[in-house]
Amino acid sequence: MISAAWFSSQITIFQVLEALGVGDGGPEETRQIACPVHQDRRPSARVYGGDENRLYCFTCGRGWDVVGLVMAVQHLTYPAAADWLMETFNLGRPSDLPGQIRQALLSTATSIQPLFSMTEQALRESRLTMGCDRYTRASMALDVVQELYLTKAIDRKTAQQDLTRILRFVKR
Ligand SMILES: [Zn+2]
Repeated sequence: MISAAWFSSQITIFQVLEALGVGDGGPEETRQIACPVHQDRRPSARVYGGDENRLYCFTCGRGWDVVGLVMAVQHLTYPAAADWLMETFNLGRPSDLPGQIRQALLSTATSIQPLFSMTEQALRESRLTMGCDRYTRASMALDVVQELYLTKAIDRKTAQQDLTRILRFVKR
């Protein structure tokens, strides 16, 4: 399974909204649209472009990154949503997980490159790790660490220690 962070680095939330046929198709500035997961007379979901690359609904109090949005709108599991994105956007599989982890290490060391995925999704994914291969488990752990760091649940030093541990795990 491929990490949500990787999908976020490949596709914008605007592209996903368009492919799903939701949103207003307006210009790619921060904008407010009808929430795609419930009846919404007044647009209550905000699209955050750039590094944030996510949708947040003020009525639901929930947010979705590119994979999470596909899961929510299409009612798919994480693996099915990942397949949908691979196919819809004709993406090639990422082959360099150690490289991705190193990059995440660099980004915690300098400026934050937000690779946003919601905690709820991270938890769901961590339950899925049972029976998954080493690569997939490391990829999920990478997502969780990034999420925890971005939400300031852990500090930079802890994030770096965790990332180093994941990198060791994947190279073992
Ligand atoms: Zn909503």
